[in-house]
Amino acid sequence: MPIATVNPATGETVRTFEPLDDRSIEECLARAESAFRSYRATDFDSRAALLASAADLLEAEQDQVARIMTTEMGKTLSAARAEAAKCVKAMRWYAANAEHLLADEHPAAADVEDSGARHAYVRYRPLGVVLAVMPWNFPLWQVIRFAAPALMAGNTALLKHASNVPQTALYLGDLFRRAGFPAGCFQTLLVGSGAIEKILRDPRVAAATLTGSEGAGRAVAAVAGDEVKKTVLELGGSDPFVVMPSAAAELDHAVATAVTARVQNNGQSCIAAKRFIVHEDVYDDFAARFSRAMAALAVGDPADADTDVGPLSTEQGRADLEELVEDALSQGAVALCGGRRPDGLPGGWYYEPTVLAGVTDRMRIHREEAFGPVATLYRVPDLDAAIALANDTPFGLSSNVWTRDEDEQRRFAGDLAAGGVYFNGMTASHPAMPFGGVKRSGYGRELSGHGIREFCNVTTVWYG
Ligand code: NAP
Repeated sequence: MPIATVNPATGETVRTFEPLDDRSIEECLARAESAFRSYRATDFDSRAALLASAADLLEAEQDQVARIMTTEMGKTLSAARAEAAKCVKAMRWYAANAEHLLADEHPAAADVEDSGARHAYVRYRPLGVVLAVMPWNFPLWQVIRFAAPALMAGNTALLKHASNVPQTALYLGDLFRRAGFPAGCFQTLLVGSGAIEKILRDPRVAAATLTGSEGAGRAVAAVAGDEVKKTVLELGGSDPFVVMPSAAAELDHAVATAVTARVQNNGQSCIAAKRFIVHEDVYDDFAARFSRAMAALAVGDPADADTDVGPLSTEQGRADLEELVEDALSQGAVALCGGRRPDGLPGGWYYEPTVLAGVTDRMRIHREEAFGPVATLYRVPDLDAAIALANDTPFGLSSNVWTRDEDEQRRFAGDLAAGGVYFNGMTASHPAMPFGGVKRSGYGRELSGHGIREFCNVTTVWYG
């Protein structure tokens, strides 16, 4: 894949970039390791001051970076501005909280004595240089979600961003440099995915984090496994959105949330609700209102303030989505709305918001991730069927359930195989809450105390 900015709203190649050569990669690795040796010894206050200064810069430059993101991957300008604001919040949160999240831990005195120690405690030390392989869909947020805690813990970072967001990637490297981080603490490597194996095998790289597809995750984890290096994987999702009869009184709210949860980021979000599992008592009502609301969305230029849904980020992404829909329709699924490209928008990679009913487990879309504005709708007779269908997927990122019944809430919270269960709302990440999945959605957690400890050497310090 060439490293280039190609505007998804027009298909026009705006700018191309040469990948780094071997010598430049070597210089980056050497700088990252050398920076780690001194940066690891800095205190929390000085790291927090640097991160806070990066947050201030980003806040002042929100509009500028939002325009870059919209041009590179097609999210609406308002969504791009909101993404930048979310990054500022996460940076400030980690600047304020990292020190107590990584404070020394003291086992119970009786246990310390039982171990034969006079004194013992647990200390969190940084791991070293961490390689981050990142996707284009939230090109700022995915990186900051890793970088803020990793830098606060005292690690240094190398970013290999997706090849279609090079200007956002360069902006990030420049942001941390201008904020005053020492050279080598955070570097953007403009390289293709073919360069990753050699970088990851380099002894100066301690660990890797990857957000992206299952295939990319498997490739990076295989190399890291061979090298016995720690990884965190944040992969795909096909989150359920369950609606039970006790939510009947708030069906309008549930429908509005369902629409947002499906089409946020033009439908290209790992935690978008993708499978809508509705109890038969409210199915007809929900299906009618949901498909009407999806059909009413304005599809168009992401830079236009009136647009709800912009283009897919890549031509291949739209082709993949079309294949999934065609496969379902050819086997008997019914499009309650959409199911095709919109009229009057030539050039860009647009697709109509789509609701498919009558989906069965023989169809590819039942098991694969639909990365675009396409929802599948299922009718279930009861709670057990809802849970079984929600779990009938290779993924396990998050889940959404609409019910006011407390017994049902306990069942869902206990039995849904996912890294999150969100009641009467939609999944959205927050710096203080852990984020990550099970099954093919990956392993490890980002955000909160769990996220910052992923790239730490948890050290037992014992005095005889
Ligand atoms: P992708 O094709 O897997 O790309 C992600 C990153 O991995 C890019 O930097 C890509 O580089 C690189 N890559 C691809 N193949 C690789 C390989 N064999 N070895 C090493 N690196 C490789 O994914 P995407 O299309 O950008 O993103 C969409 C996917 O990400 C969806 O499945 C989505 O659900 C998932 N996602 C998950 C989360 C989460 O938090 N769980 C968040 C966002 C997205 P190139 O661009 O150079 O190919």
